[in-house]
Amino acid sequence: MIYSYSAISTFENCPLKFKFAYVDKIKPLRKNIESFMGSRVHETLEKLYRDKLFAKIDSLQELISFYNERWKKEMHGNVFVVKGYEIENYRKMGEMYIRDYYNTYKPFDEGKIIALEKRIFFPLNEKYWINGIIDRIAEKDGIYEVHDYKTSLYFPSLNELDETQLAIYAIALQNLYGAEEIELVWHYLAFNKEIRIRRKSYEYVKEEIINKIEKIENAKKEGKFPAKESALCEYCEYQPICPLFKHRYKIDEMKAEEVAEEDGFSLVNKYWEIERKMEELETMKEELRKKLIDYARKNEVEHIYGGDKLVKIKFYRNLHFKDDKIVESILKKEGLYEKFSRLDFIALSKAFEKDAIPRYIKEKLKEIMEEREVIRLYLKEVKREE
Ligand code: SF4
Repeated sequence: MIYSYSAISTFENCPLKFKFAYVDKIKPLRKNIESFMGSRVHETLEKLYRDKLFAKIDSLQELISFYNERWKKEMHGNVFVVKGYEIENYRKMGEMYIRDYYNTYKPFDEGKIIALEKRIFFPLNEKYWINGIIDRIAEKDGIYEVHDYKTSLYFPSLNELDETQLAIYAIALQNLYGAEEIELVWHYLAFNKEIRIRRKSYEYVKEEIINKIEKIENAKKEGKFPAKESALCEYCEYQPICPLFKHRYKIDEMKAEEVAEEDGFSLVNKYWEIERKMEELETMKEELRKKLIDYARKNEVEHIYGGDKLVKIKFYRNLHFKDDKIVESILKKEGLYEKFSRLDFIALSKAFEKDAIPRYIKEKLKEIMEEREVIRLYLKEVKREE
């Protein structure tokens, strides 16, 4: 089985997107401007170093012209912008990244170029292989470097940095070149900064990746690819076929008079209207409740009679423990905790799904467990792309 890092991270971000892209092999239906710009910047930096291999140092102007030509040639109507800026803003951002990079690294002899856009392919174990493309491999003083260009507008701290991708590439370099010392270099172009990390071994990443691949393999076996809604959905190229968004695309393409007749559209509006009325009624009910209590207190009655109905009001007091933790520790100390505590089935089923309990316990629980369909409806405001 062959996996690329991008497939693994797509699955982690959203199993359904992984299904569209890698199981059904559906080509992206639209392209977000961030990734469009990222591709153009990558191509330009590749050209810079490829020309350098031929002893040609491109001028900054040449590179900017190349970037703009590629931008023009590749631009198409399905490139979309999520944030409230123009496509032109992104083109200028890419230019700025190239300019800053150029001025910082000129004459680009910070290391010997070993390979550009290098496709790697190597076994993680006897079952799984990894493939991927490394932006640039360089070598300096016997130390190999894996370079990766990032056009993200977020500059991670060392704690936040996800080393996995470059760590796998480092293992690939050990396989390819027998490299012993390898440094990982991230170029955060928007900040004109690089982050370097050098570890003695990158083997730690293998187990993590194998676990992730096994999760994907299980999902494939069980056909389970749930849609995972997140902030990344806004940038997703598969929105038009995703069950979370395809109805919106359907009604966006309909004429206004047809939309009002569309079943889903009118059902939601009716549901929304009823929900609103229920909220109003709940508020009215609460006000009446308070008035009834006032009435009962003032008139010293506990039963209040209407026509066919009466309201019984009971005044009583119960005990409230102010600090759960202290209560818990007292009961534990006195050996009474088990008698008064209840099992948290929600936490247990979450742990079960996340493999956070030992396998042999899972097997025992499986025998007395069943999956039940749960259906919940939530009403939310529709967010529109700006
Ligand atoms: S829109 Fe969101 S939930 Fe749907 S496929 Fe894309 S990432 Fe997944």
